[in-house]
Parts: sequence; C-alpha cells; structure tokens
Amino acid sequence: MSKEDGFSFCFDKSVCKICKGKCCIGEGYVFLTDEDIEGISNFLSLKKEEFLKLYTRKVNGKTTLIDLAVKNEIRCVFLDDNYRCEIYTKRPKQCRDFPFWESLKNKSFDEVKKLCPGIAPCS
Ligand code: SF4
Repeated sequence: MSKEDGFSFCFDKSVCKICKGKCCIGEGYVFLTDEDIEGISNFLSLKKEEFLKLYTRKVNGKTTLIDLAVKNEIRCVFLDDNYRCEIYTKRPKQCRDFPFWESLKNKSFDEVKKLCPGIAPCS
C-alpha cells in the first residue's frame, strides 16, 4: 500500500492488475517532461523528433501524448488491447505519480475513489 504525506487516501497498486486501465481511458492529458520524451524515444528506438511527431501533440505549449478512439473509448495511445501500458517501464512521470497528484491533494477520499478503484483508506 502506497502512502504520501498530505493525501487523504492510500493507493493499493495490486488493483492495477484488474482495473483495465481506468486512469488511461477518458478525456485528459498525459503531459511529458523532457526526461519522459528522452526515455520513451529510446525505449521505442525512435529519434526524439520521430517520437514527438508520431505520438504527441501540443496543448497550451505543453507536450502531451495523443489519444485514440478505440471501441467507443478515448484511450491513451499506449494502452493496448489487453489494457496494459505498452511503455510501462518508461511510462511518463505523470503516470508514475498517479494518484498522488497535487491536483488531488485537496480532494476527499470519495472523490478520488471515483477516479481509481485502487484508492484505499490508510490503516
Ligand atoms: S502512458 Fe501508459 S500508464 Fe500512462 S496513460 Fe498511457 S497507457 Fe496509461
């Protein structure tokens, strides 16, 4: 069980195996750091420019992964048919940090639980 100071919840990572990528589906942005871009490009054996062209777009000047419409769902481009992340070992910082985002710090336990079935009380 993961826990971070200042958050009203803990996170049970084992639930990721059965949740079918809830945090990777739906409207939203996965913003990339320079380190993310470097790491994912290398992982995919692509030049940085190629990776940026194929898999990203700009939103308000920031680089984000593109989405795909699959089976009536909007999904992250790297979520595969089995709801697994194709770049898991090099997934962006934003994904690694979830659900401990600053934007979720002041949310109630119930609000965050709606976003992720792995949210659990801290015992
Ligand atoms: S990069 Fe991987 S973990 Fe992040 S949203 Fe996409 S599929 Fe999910």
